[in-house]
Amino acid sequence: MRIRQSNEGLSGIISEQAEDLIKKIFQLALAASLILFVYLMYGLFSGDLADVAGKPDAAKHALAVVAQISNYLNLALVITLVTSILLYYDESVYGFSLLGIAAFLAYGLQFSIDLLFASEAPRLTSGAASKSLLHEVWLMAMMIGAPGIIMVVRSMFVRILEGRQGEDLTAVQYGKGVAREDDVPKAAIPILAKCWQLPFCRAGIRKNCPIFLAKTRCWKERVGCMCEENIIMLAMGGTEAQTPVNMTKEMGFVAIGDILAKNNEDKRASIQTRPGPHGVRIPVNPHITHEQQKYRCNNCIIYNEHQRLKYSFFSVPVTLCVPVVVFWQFDAVRALLTTVLQGIDKLVAHLSISGNGGVSLDLSRQIAGSLPIETILIICLVLVLMTWAQRLLEYCIFTIKI
Ligand code: SF4
Ligand code: SF4
Repeated sequence: MRIRQSNEGLSGIISEQAEDLIKKIFQLALAASLILFVYLMYGLFSGDLADVAGKPDAAKHALAVVAQISNYLNLALVITLVTSILLYYDESVYGFSLLGIAAFLAYGLQFSIDLLFASEAPRLTSGAASKSLLHEVWLMAMMIGAPGIIMVVRSMFVRILEGRQGEDLTAVQYGKGVAREDDVPKAAIPILAKCWQLPFCRAGIRKNCPIFLAKTRCWKERVGCMCEENIIMLAMGGTEAQTPVNMTKEMGFVAIGDILAKNNEDKRASIQTRPGPHGVRIPVNPHITHEQQKYRCNNCIIYNEHQRLKYSFFSVPVTLCVPVVVFWQFDAVRALLTTVLQGIDKLVAHLSISGNGGVSLDLSRQIAGSLPIETILIICLVLVLMTWAQRLLEYCIFTIKI
């Protein structure tokens, strides 16, 4: 899913030829990175690096080869990362992909070695060359994880802005295409704005609108100018070009605009009303169910603007409450992480094909015993939870319209 308003992407910033060139560089750098990484892994898993133990010359040569390949790999990886950021920075999944790869390299690889090779694992990972290789893998995890964190934070930030200003989260059926008006009364607290304090309330209709006169909000009364737009226009004798809303009498629309029509007394008299706030009579519609009224509001530009203001109000606190709670309860979160890791260990030991899954306890002990490693893990988890919190808020406000 794209996370910005413009669909131009990189081509909106640089020329097509330059984008093609970046793509080619990315593909070449990625291929080089993969080949070098696979070669290093082959040296590790085949036991070639472990076999040089006790042979000083061979060990020295293996160490030099690992160091040289690591240098090339770092260079190729940096180019891959830079070009991939240029190409995919606007894809929300990109940051999480980087985080996933980094997490696998940092923890998953050692975990896999322990799980798959069981008693062979200590031999495969011992020796200077093997240790140097594992250090390189750890470095790669850091190199990939750092931009991953930045990209995830960026994607959250952009989604908040999109929710506040973008068009994509609130597709509407009623009032689509209605222009924003500057000349509206302003609400002191935007989230509490009534419909006549939103930019889609048109001054010509507002002055005699029962909703405005009653100082209430249309979505509360379930009747308003967008669901009665054509009739209001006819009643006012308006000639302003508007996109017609597809309404039929059978759908139960009531002509609240008729109360504005001075030359249509009969029709006005036939409108059913009920007493509303401040003694103003609000039209009622006996032909439409509560669900139909709700559906209209959920698909109306006015109600969606109200929802957008709600999102603006809640998006930052909801997203930030995750890191605040984690920071406040850091020790409890660490303890929880340790419990989860031990649970994973037990599960792996239970499922282990080799029957020796208990060796992975070394890894959980290594993670649980190191504050920096735990902190990195917790930061990654916090980012994921922040994104979920944000998505949950979007779902509540823009999908089920709470
Ligand atoms: S129903 Fe429409 S015209 Fe009336 S106050 Fe609300 S937004 Fe304005
Ligand atoms: S559909 Fe709902 S929000 Fe839109 S004008 Fe009618 S009552 Fe108001």
